[in-house]
Amino acid sequence: MKRSKKILIVCHCLLNANAKVYPLASCGGVYTQAVGDSVAEGVGLLQLPCPETVYLGINRWGMTREQYDTPHFRESCREMLKPSIAQIKSFANAGYQLIGIIGMDGSPNCGVSRTCMGYSGGEINVEGIVEAQRENLLFSSGKGVFIEVLSTMLDEEQIDIPFTAIDEEA
Ligand code: SF4
Repeated sequence: MKRSKKILIVCHCLLNANAKVYPLASCGGVYTQAVGDSVAEGVGLLQLPCPETVYLGINRWGMTREQYDTPHFRESCREMLKPSIAQIKSFANAGYQLIGIIGMDGSPNCGVSRTCMGYSGGEINVEGIVEAQRENLLFSSGKGVFIEVLSTMLDEEQIDIPFTAIDEEA
């Protein structure tokens, strides 16, 4: 039996950079620098859904954490995470080792220790508002919305998996 019984959970775009907001992406598809060692060691990868692509599609605009932080979006994250939680529970109950969860720091959704903030709102056709919005953008410490929902759902199941992240700008 060759299976390692070790599983690493990864945010969607770690295995598919094409899901990111255009034109972000510092690799063609898979962030091999983030998962290559684990793959070589025989660790299996469990890919989470990309909440932004599921919710808004691939031609979405970049948004901040405040814009995603709505009751309906949080509920949508919960719905789209149910199949992942079911798989995680199944592996955990069968004694598989869930060695970690890798998010994407800087993301309004998949940030683990750093997220993107600063939405000020308003009509973009009003003079100066786009420039003001750009100046308002900042990275702030804290989780993205999707990772926060995932963390809550894992707590509810009493499943403890360490979170880490790579940097979206890396
Ligand atoms: S960081 Fe999260 S929300 Fe952003 S593209 Fe990757 S998987 Fe999707």
